[in-house]
Amino acid sequence: MSKAISQVPFAQNEPVNAYSPGSDEVKSLISTYKKMWKEKTEIPMIIGGKEIKTETKIQLTSPHDHHHDFGFYYQGDMSHVDMAIEAALAAKAKWNALGWEQRASIFLKAADLLAGPYRDVINAATMIGQSKNVHQAEIDSACEFIDFLRYNVEFMTELYAEQPVSDPGVWNRVEYRPLEGFCFAVTPFNFTAISGNLPTSMALMGNVVVWKPSDKQIYAAKVTMDVLKEAGLPDGVINMIFTDGKETAERVLAHPDFAGLHFTGSTKVFQGMWKMIGDNIHHYKSYPRIVGETGGKDFVMVHHSANIEAVATALVRGAFEYQGQKCSAASRAYIPKSIWNQVKDLMASQIKTIKIGSPEDPSNYVNAVIDKNSFEKCKAYIDRAEASNDANVIIGGKYDDKKGWFVHPTVIETINPYYESMVEEIFGPILTVFVYEDENWESTLKLVDTSTPYSLTGSIFAQDRYAIDEAYKALENAAGNFYINDKPTGAVVGQQPFGGSRASGTNDKAGSKMNLMRWVSARSIKETFVPAKDYKYPYLG
Ligand code: NAD
Repeated sequence: MSKAISQVPFAQNEPVNAYSPGSDEVKSLISTYKKMWKEKTEIPMIIGGKEIKTETKIQLTSPHDHHHDFGFYYQGDMSHVDMAIEAALAAKAKWNALGWEQRASIFLKAADLLAGPYRDVINAATMIGQSKNVHQAEIDSACEFIDFLRYNVEFMTELYAEQPVSDPGVWNRVEYRPLEGFCFAVTPFNFTAISGNLPTSMALMGNVVVWKPSDKQIYAAKVTMDVLKEAGLPDGVINMIFTDGKETAERVLAHPDFAGLHFTGSTKVFQGMWKMIGDNIHHYKSYPRIVGETGGKDFVMVHHSANIEAVATALVRGAFEYQGQKCSAASRAYIPKSIWNQVKDLMASQIKTIKIGSPEDPSNYVNAVIDKNSFEKCKAYIDRAEASNDANVIIGGKYDDKKGWFVHPTVIETINPYYESMVEEIFGPILTVFVYEDENWESTLKLVDTSTPYSLTGSIFAQDRYAIDEAYKALENAAGNFYINDKPTGAVVGQQPFGGSRASGTNDKAGSKMNLMRWVSARSIKETFVPAKDYKYPYLG
């Protein structure tokens, strides 16, 4: 154990590479992309540090070219879930006994590997597997992931330093133990950073983990495991399995040693898992921790005093970057009639310049949506809007699945604030706008607050400070991440801790001390230096 109270390196946000046309950094990334595009990668599960291959090979295809397969992964079954749980539990005692500096060091090294030799590799894997352009890959799989790793180490030491006062003659301490048993991380397709953060934040706090990534994010998940191995993560601490989500959840959540769920994904899946945990509550050795960050229907609420260029730009960036596949993406906007035409024209002229295609060409701002299901879902919303009396497709509305799952940036205008695309999460490049009469500002704030079950992110645009204050108060519970005169996406670790409430999650703020608190179970220790030797208190005479 440690013989010093060491300080960890001061955490700072990883600088974002600009990837300007012709720069060395963009040449290097695109050449890595081209090389990896041609390779046929083979991805085994990693259980107890071993590569696990099965008879079932699942082809990997790219969203922007669904005829191009870049390899395959080995799919597992319930025997592999059992193996992963056993491997995690077998690794537990040694990992728990390791000093915190040793754990911190592994994850700090992983951050440096990602910032250096693995930067192009993890970015290219994210571009190929998840169809992110150079900028979207950089801010996710490089910078945000690195930030999670570094800031979590700093937050861990802040948490450990939180200690109680002691009366004279007594020394009180609090020790932050990992949870008893094993933890379960289930991660989404859309962020390599989130996918990496969920298992690593739990492991950093001394836990052992079974990790099931999304089958749409397996390429970058593999790179994450490669990095963790090179950083020195001991075998069995994080076990990565490729198994069916529902069946795996049923298996894992019925295990008596299940200790905590770290989930990010859709609301419905999380609610199903919470229910399973409730049904199994009598079987567990301890009450499991449940953390879930889920869906959103993120708003942009505009006051007539708002700056028009700022509103149009925030809507275009907020709604269409990464094809709207961010839980924080702007997907409903409320715009006053007096400025709507100007906002609309400006948005239309910006959207006209957007290029769509493969991330191999860095000038493409919009790439493909993740898969056929997502494509069909977007298409259906667009087709229904075209046919509806309540809605009009005013910008975009095109889609094309010949080569990849391409949906063009689309704006729907509706006269019904409860129209389906105004209240349901689509998770694609579709923004719906409700135009309100300027004098209905107050009642529209109510609509923003109450018309969806979600509460993830939201923005308010205004120059009038009284209007900002009014919206700030009226929308207190409408968003876990609230923006004033900025788009509702792009939260930065250490700056805007991320998460929402209501149907959007447990709001445990990924990449913060609040989140790490969920993966420890505190033990209070009171030591008395000179214990009493007689039961009689002074009041007994
Ligand atoms: P998803 O819910 O389809 O899948 C998430 C994970 O759950 C995957 O690993 C998947 O394989 C697994 N899964 C699927 N069905 C399951 C089941 N029945 N039981 C157990 N596990 C199951 O989500 P997705 O499409 O990967 O990601 C998009 C969703 O994630 C959106 O709803 C988005 O808003 C949300 N999201 C939220 C945040 C946040 O921080 N709030 C961040 C990113 C994504």
